[in-house]
Amino acid sequence: MAYVITDKCVACGTCLPVCPVEAISEGDIYHIDPDTCIECGSCAEVCPSEAIIPGE
Ligand code: SF4
Repeated sequence: MAYVITDKCVACGTCLPVCPVEAISEGDIYHIDPDTCIECGSCAEVCPSEAIIPGE
């Protein structure tokens, strides 16, 4: 399953440039397009708020 950005997101933008498939989009909280995400986990590693978790 695709990774998910939870409401712990503070919209800092750290994850945006690390996604190799550009699945992440900006917003009040950021969002991952589940159809584009390849589940690499790169965004979860860099998130300073630990807001990104594997989907279920
Ligand atoms: Fe992009 Fe990888 Fe995060 Fe999926 S897990 S949104 S592919 S950085």
